[in-house]
Amino acid sequence: MVEEDTIDKPEKIEECYTCGKKFNINANDNSHYHYGKFPMCNYCSNFYGFYDKEYKK
Ligand SMILES: [Zn+2]
Repeated sequence: MVEEDTIDKPEKIEECYTCGKKFNINANDNSHYHYGKFPMCNYCSNFYGFYDKEYKK
């Protein structure tokens, strides 16, 4: 169950401020604290991520 990259990070359940879903902010995915304070799940990070990562348009 435990992935190598997650060993150092204890699971921390947060509630996504965008969709309200509970998720592990420390999972090895794109979940993160938006603006450093708002928990955002992996799905929403992918959905909104282009604002930060690929702002090409
Ligand atoms: Zn979300």
